Amino acid sequence: MANSKFEYVKNFEQPDNLLLNTWIVVRIDGRGFTKFSSKYGFEKPNDRRALDLMNAAAQAVMYEIPEVTIAYGISDEYSFVFHKSCTLFERRSSKLVTTIVSTFSSYYIHLWSTYFPDTPLSPPLPSFDGRAVCYPSVQNLRDYMSWRQVDCHINNLYNTTFWALIQKGGMGNLEAEELLKGTYAADKNEILFSKFGINYNNEPEIYKKGSVLFRGYELVDPATHNAAAEADSLAEPVQQSKNQTENDKKRRAKARIVIEHLDIIKDEFWDRRPWLLS
Ligand code: ATP
Ligand code: ATP
Ligand code: MG
Ligand code: MG
Ligand code: MG
Ligand code: MG
Ligand code: MG
Repeated sequence: MANSKFEYVKNFEQPDNLLLNTWIVVRIDGRGFTKFSSKYGFEKPNDRRALDLMNAAAQAVMYEIPEVTIAYGISDEYSFVFHKSCTLFERRSSKLVTTIVSTFSSYYIHLWSTYFPDTPLSPPLPSFDGRAVCYPSVQNLRDYMSWRQVDCHINNLYNTTFWALIQKGGMGNLEAEELLKGTYAADKNEILFSKFGINYNNEPEIYKKGSVLFRGYELVDPATHNAAAEADSLAEPVQQSKNQTENDKKRRAKARIVIEHLDIIKDEFWDRRPWLLS
């Protein structure tokens, strides 16, 4: 029963429900943050306050949207992962992406003054874009996470060397760029050590590894867990019972969300936190 003759326009909407039983990753990225970071005088190559602010905003997103199971952030970007069984907004892409982007942007602005007490925001205000991608297997999802962390490493090694050449070596931007052209990781490590006495391994973990956010339940000893998990995955139907879903929800709502700077490429991280991918 139509309420008005105008209501037919609703039929122009396109469905955008994401494929069932796949891991959904929503990645957001700051718009024009090269300019934004120079406007607010971010320290180069890494402004700790800016990273802490990104992490605080991402943590707030995870408290407000408990369906997000894990998040990973570097530079001006953050990836939020929804479990493959997630049914939030009937898995509609636009709903998921816009809710994450606007919740994140709101908190970024709300928390700004905590991290930058002496530099008030003025227009143009920070904003973020976002996209959703489905990964059909745990391997694909882990490869996605690894891809982002490798990117963090490559960029940070480059930026650390580039800015050392400028800040400590007195080079100009072009000169430093020229010197680093075609160099490998080993060359950059060598430049850092021989010219500036910097051992890259001793750089802060947050810069080298990025930040991973998840609910901090108790760690599991992977040796005893694996056999049990395998038996479980064979016995469990894909659909959880209503009760179990409710319990999970309560457990998630109560859990503390921790911010760590760990290797998420190796198995250990995932083996010790089996709830993230089960
Ligand atoms: P786009 O709108 O296409 O994303 P962008 O200028 O944001 O453009 P990115 O590739 O996202 O381009 O790069 C992010 C920029 O923000 C980089 O220049 C990076 O150095 C800067 N930046 C982000 N976070 C920090 C930080 N914590 N400290 C210093 N610089 C940062
Ligand atoms: P959803 O998240 O699905 O959008 P919702 O509660 O936001 O849920 P809407 O259909 O968007 O549902 O309805 C918006 C609600 O906000 C209505 O209940 C409306 O009465 C209330 N609302 C919005 N703007 C005003 C306003 N200016 N004054 C009073 N009530 C308002
Ligand atoms: Mg971009
Ligand atoms: Mg950006
Ligand atoms: Mg970026
Ligand atoms: Mg409305
Ligand atoms: Mg509404």
